[in-house]
Amino acid sequence: MTFALHGIPVSKGIAIGKAVLISRAALEVSHYLVEPGKEEAEAQKLLDAFNQVRLELDQLRLGLPKDAPQEMAAFLDVHGMILADPALAEKPMKLIRTQRLNAAWALTTELNDLLEQFAEIEDLYLKERANDIRQVAERVIKALNAQKDALNHSDFLPSSDVGVESIIVAHDIAPHDMLRFKEHAFTGFVTDLGGKTSHTAIVARSMEIPAVVGVRHASEMVRHGDWLILDGEQGIVVVAPDEQLLVEYRKLQTQTLKEARKLQQLKHSKTETLDRVDIELFANLELPEDAVQAIKLGAVGVGLFRSEFLFMDRKQALPDEEQQYQEYRRVVDLMHGLPVNIRTIDVGADKALGSSSNDVSQTGTSPLGLRAIRWSLTEPEIFLAQLRAILRASAHGQARIMIPMLAHAKEIEETFRLIEKAKQQLLQRGQSFNPNIQVGAMIEIPAAALVLPLFINHFDFLSIGTNDLIQYTLAIDRADHAVAHLYDPLHPAILHLLASIIQQAKRANIPIAVCGEMAGDPSLTKLLLAMGLTDFSMHFSQLLLVKREILNSNVGMLKARFPRVLKAYEPEAQAKALERLLA
Ligand code: PEP
Ligand code: MG
Repeated sequence: MTFALHGIPVSKGIAIGKAVLISRAALEVSHYLVEPGKEEAEAQKLLDAFNQVRLELDQLRLGLPKDAPQEMAAFLDVHGMILADPALAEKPMKLIRTQRLNAAWALTTELNDLLEQFAEIEDLYLKERANDIRQVAERVIKALNAQKDALNHSDFLPSSDVGVESIIVAHDIAPHDMLRFKEHAFTGFVTDLGGKTSHTAIVARSMEIPAVVGVRHASEMVRHGDWLILDGEQGIVVVAPDEQLLVEYRKLQTQTLKEARKLQQLKHSKTETLDRVDIELFANLELPEDAVQAIKLGAVGVGLFRSEFLFMDRKQALPDEEQQYQEYRRVVDLMHGLPVNIRTIDVGADKALGSSSNDVSQTGTSPLGLRAIRWSLTEPEIFLAQLRAILRASAHGQARIMIPMLAHAKEIEETFRLIEKAKQQLLQRGQSFNPNIQVGAMIEIPAAALVLPLFINHFDFLSIGTNDLIQYTLAIDRADHAVAHLYDPLHPAILHLLASIIQQAKRANIPIAVCGEMAGDPSLTKLLLAMGLTDFSMHFSQLLLVKREILNSNVGMLKARFPRVLKAYEPEAQAKALERLLA
């Protein structure tokens, strides 16, 4: 029976193949008490297993292919360090000697203790490192169980199937195992666990192998040998697809592969139109480490770092100034001196703070409520801490402050007063920052668009948040399915508003970008170019698609045809004018 599972897409592309299930049973341990007098022999078994894994990791490191992603060596080093830490073996040795637990039992007891301690940690990055410890411990347990290498491809498929494309389905996969899977020509990965920051996801992305993680019960629901379609774009895993679906996806797969290969060739070419207009492509990031990929794909900076993702999904306190500073600094360092617009916290509406143990979870749930800068101004201490963290990061590169959801002159005044105060606080502490840090505003409320000169007078740069600008202009809650069909970027009101903002900003010589989803939609690229836009900011996965459109555009021609689009108020007339524009 065909069914679909949903997870988090972490690496694009389509894979079709037979499921190869890596069972956790391989890692289950037996529990027994060793005979009195045999404790030392059991302890030695544990030490031997540690040594064996150390050798395995060394061999893996030596055998890394030249084209292996850089991260691989780093991961092997991290795992080597965890293994070398005497603390990992110390307690289990004690448990063997004092309580006569068998070695694997003793090690899993310690592992569970460690995992519990990690569960208390709030820092998302550190939290993910718990996985590294678990993976190292599981490797030692495997050695203890004297199992055959569980990752040998031919062990898993009936011999007639060797050569058939296969997709790994596992509860979790260690990053270095991932690389060995590659050697065995696995074409996709599905895991129950994992988030965007897990090492496994990072490696899958850097290897450009389609992957979907966080599929919860995949390893229970998929059977060994099931046919699977893995859609790394949508985060969908189709189990036991029928013939028709297979044919359709195969077509799509061939097409996507061809396109992806071709697109990669655009990575290093200059981003300019046919009539030589330079265009700048920036990346939108939710996580600092995504900066690596953004750079690889040719982003010339970060147009929008959604800082609130550091604040969401936290069970306890908000990250303090120091923690934020470390994260902002990481993006700034990874971007090697390119500009990084750190958008101050934008919570409220559909982005509630995850915390329930402090009162800052009381953000508004209406999109018209206490959101973004409105909320920050009611929480000056939290806002000041964030501003100080950004300012401190500005000492290491081009960190810039970007303020969301401004509409009122009073809010602008209060924002700048607090930025000044944050600077004074750092001066008093003797901490360095860039005193001339650039401050930008998002234009995402129609009121702001209608009084643009106010913003031009106060800010160093502007960025249009089309997601919200459309929501507020058309009075469509962007999170409400019932009105989703009315959410229309091509509504003449939106086109007029956008064209007017871009034109005014260009005339005033103030940098203007679009960082809403419109900027990353290749079907709208020409339209934005026609309005005179030269700075686009989007999720890095869209960069090359948009670049391809740009390389095939003639801005002069687009601009000449654009007035007809603006004059078309009736849908049919607009469709005709757009068709002519895109021809
Ligand atoms: C926008 O509103 O277009 C935008 C980029 O911000 P967000 O999607 O985070 O609200
Ligand atoms: Mg917005």
